[in-house]
Amino acid sequence: MGILIHLAKRWVAGEYLEDAVERAKSANDRGISGIINHVGEHNEDIAKIEASAEEYNRLLDGIKQEKIDSAISIKPTQLGLMKDVQTCTKTIEPLVKKAADLGIFVWMDMEGSIHTQQIIDIYKHLYKENKNLGIAIQTYLFRTPEDLKELSAMGAKIRLCKGAYNEPADIAIKRHEDIRKAYADLLEMLFREGGLELIAVATHDDELIELAMQLNKEHPRNFEFQMLMGAHDKRKVELAGEGYKVCGYIPYGKGWLGYFLRRLNEQKRDIKTALVCVIKGD
Ligand SMILES: Cc1cc2nc3c(=O)[nH]c(=O)nc-3n(C[C@H](O)[C@H](O)[C@H](O)COP(=O)(O)OP(=O)(O)OC[C@H]3O[C@@H](n4cnc5c(N)ncnc54)[C@H](O)[C@@H]3O)c2cc1C
Repeated sequence: MGILIHLAKRWVAGEYLEDAVERAKSANDRGISGIINHVGEHNEDIAKIEASAEEYNRLLDGIKQEKIDSAISIKPTQLGLMKDVQTCTKTIEPLVKKAADLGIFVWMDMEGSIHTQQIIDIYKHLYKENKNLGIAIQTYLFRTPEDLKELSAMGAKIRLCKGAYNEPADIAIKRHEDIRKAYADLLEMLFREGGLELIAVATHDDELIELAMQLNKEHPRNFEFQMLMGAHDKRKVELAGEGYKVCGYIPYGKGWLGYFLRRLNEQKRDIKTALVCVIKGD
């Protein structure tokens, strides 16, 4: 277990809120903003939903007290969506309002496709009165160009990612190269047409990062780069040094193992790199 924790610390801050705050501070010192997430999803039980909400309350206070430059990122199924849309909305809304009072931005992660419509509905409802709220949108879903048109029309704030779930072929693009091409097409559309109040380019894909920089030269927009903790750490600092806003997604919590195993599964190549770092003591 010891070596696993050592390995995991590349991708996960630790078990406690204080670990995440420390990681965010050190990211800030390198010119990178934080996006802190308390890992967890699919909470069926109301006590667990309330405990997760309470953890985010404490996190918001911690960010404020420690004067960290960090947003938070929440998963709707962690905060009531396994019950229903109303429970989730009622759980998230006070957090978003408290965050606004403290000057903190809130991101809603996007989850598996059975929840896509619900999460977009909650976002649209809450965004009307809470402009400190953004939503992740997954490139691989066939529905995404239409969703983005609607979100652009309301001046939403979106995080464009490729998508992390294993979705069926009748609703999602499956080939990695096709997802990449779709991501490039969506970026072109978002930068050219405008409308969104914030475009967060959430990828570690160098070609897409270059494309976003190029598009922003032609059509300057409010945009930022977002990457996961433990991925492209050198590139993050370079981009921040070039004057771009760069955010690092910092997960923490007792459920770190599940998050860590998912990252390893997604990035089998990186297991080798991480193991080499551990062995060398980097
Ligand atoms: C800030 C952020 C928030 C996200 N939020 C969501 C969300 O709400 N919902 C959702 O479905 N998905 C989310 N994702 C995940 C996303 O959908 C992709 O699954 C993931 O980012 C991998 O795609 P990629 O574009 O980075 O490129 P890839 O094509 O997978 O990789 C490009 C390069 O980056 C490297 N790389 C990628 N990931 C890692 C890693 N973890 N560690 C080390 N190297 C890596 C690869 O090895 C490769 O060299 C998020 C991603 C980021 C960065």
